[in-house]
Amino acid sequence: MINIGAHLSASKGFLNMAKQAVAIGGNTFQFFTRNPRGFAAKDIDKKDIAEYLSFISDKNFAVILAHAPYTLNPCSDKENVRELAQMIMSDDIKRMENIPHSYYNFHPGSHVGQGAEKGIELTSNLLNAVLLKGQTTTVLLETMSGKGSEIGGTFQELKEIIDRVELNEKLGVCLDTCHVYDAGYDIVNELDAVLAEFDSLIGLDKLKAIHLNDTKNPFSSHKDRHEKIGEGYLGLDAIKRIVNHPKLRNLPFFLETPNEIEGYAKEIELIKSVYEA
Ligand code: FE
Ligand code: FE
Ligand code: ZN
Repeated sequence: MINIGAHLSASKGFLNMAKQAVAIGGNTFQFFTRNPRGFAAKDIDKKDIAEYLSFISDKNFAVILAHAPYTLNPCSDKENVRELAQMIMSDDIKRMENIPHSYYNFHPGSHVGQGAEKGIELTSNLLNAVLLKGQTTTVLLETMSGKGSEIGGTFQELKEIIDRVELNEKLGVCLDTCHVYDAGYDIVNELDAVLAEFDSLIGLDKLKAIHLNDTKNPFSSHKDRHEKIGEGYLGLDAIKRIVNHPKLRNLPFFLETPNEIEGYAKEIELIKSVYEA
């Protein structure tokens, strides 16, 4: 059985997201920990979480994926911006313990002209400051498209961040199919070679989740515009090979395609139809 879900709105709580996930044919979901553009977070609702945990208990749910606000920048050149990122990630990691053993994904950041080396140093410093020995949450670095001054557009950069983090057993990677193709990894024609490169640098044991998106832009465009499954430059054949690849097929897949809830239901149905049992 494929583990699949979509990015859902967290505004009505965890039980609501879990019900929505099931209604669209999924068994997991992704959500923003707080307003993705601002930083406001709702209070933790213990009753909602208890009802959520009870609801999923007999449903073969896969691990869920929280996404940090994409406006936080762990490697900004401004100290106050880095401090805000640190405060938010630290708070998110503590809040995530209400749903133990979940995943928390973030964008490694933009070095804004300081250079990738400096960006890598600042982001790993921040991770060293926020990771806790006792946390059950795995923090995932997302593979980025390399637009602007983004770091994490290469497996080498992700490896360098991970290598500098003391508690790096708490770290993993979330591979975004739109981003890696935009970044210049040819997962359409050379999927095996791309995964071999990931394995030799980072180790496939660190690969914990897939953001399953098609892309609006051609190979190596460094653009980061997601497209509906099968309607972009990846195409359905490549998506089919990705979800069935022996090294990937048991990971949780999360759709971040430009869709409303009905569109996600259709995509999940489509992906299930090409997933080989
Ligand atoms: Fe993301
Ligand atoms: Fe993504
Ligand atoms: Zn993206």
